[in-house]
Amino acid sequence: MKLENKSALITGGNRGIGLATAQLFEREGARVAIVGRDAAAGHAALATLRDAIFIQADVARADDCQRAVTETLCAFGRLDILFNNAGIILRNRNVEATTEAEWDATLDINVKSIFLMSRAALPQLRAAGGGAIINTASYVGLVGFPGLAAYAASKGAVVNLTRAMALDHAAEKIRVNCICPGSVATDMIHRAWELYGDVTQAAQVWAAKHPLQRIAAPEEIARVVLFLASDDASFITGAALPVDGGITAG
Ligand code: NAD
Repeated sequence: MKLENKSALITGGNRGIGLATAQLFEREGARVAIVGRDAAAGHAALATLRDAIFIQADVARADDCQRAVTETLCAFGRLDILFNNAGIILRNRNVEATTEAEWDATLDINVKSIFLMSRAALPQLRAAGGGAIINTASYVGLVGFPGLAAYAASKGAVVNLTRAMALDHAAEKIRVNCICPGSVATDMIHRAWELYGDVTQAAQVWAAKHPLQRIAAPEEIARVVLFLASDDASFITGAALPVDGGITAG
């Protein structure tokens, strides 16, 4: 097992990529705290996990982030891995179509949350003798995409925040990396298909955007997060790893 005796905190762990990662981390021996805003989804997620705890928290709030770390410590006694994965997307919003409130919410939940959660977790990672932080960016953090002004700005910021944190904490044996997924079969993508209108056609259009001609399953992203969290990636820090079916290769 790759994460034996490790403790992990996963934001957005009650659904999608976060939940698939929580399930995989448990299978690899970790104890897992999942953080999300939606209590019903959190408790449904717990039913699919062995030994996890759910912490209802808003990752855009400093006091909630501190409480999430404290509750994880109380439950497991240590923290080794932080997966900053919670995020939102607002589609069909170029700059003119984006309200100030939408801009702030996107940047707060997708970027400020990583600052707040990492600031709360770093002393514990240090106390554990080192650790790993993995942030969820997006392929839209590496290239532009129409109608996603705030989202693209937020995910580009995640990529460079990851690099800055990697340099700041390398000497403390805390590795910081981010993943840049292409489209993944979660609620987030299903909401996009509903916006498109014809869900079946939208699924084909989305698949065709990827050179591999399909979108990813959440478990395919989780396996990469496991790699970055484990000693298999012991010499990797500051990386922004595309997990995108080739979409940014062109
Ligand atoms: P999802 O909508 O299924 O999950 C999003 C998660 O974020 C949920 O668990 C939700 O509870 C949590 N969340 C949102 N706002 C929060 C807040 N304020 N406080 C606490 N938790 C909050 O979507 P997903 O696809 O699993 O997305 C996970 C991450 O992957 C996001 O950062 C997203 O931007 C990124 N991503 C997704 C795709 C995709 O195609 N699905 C592609 C690239 C990147």
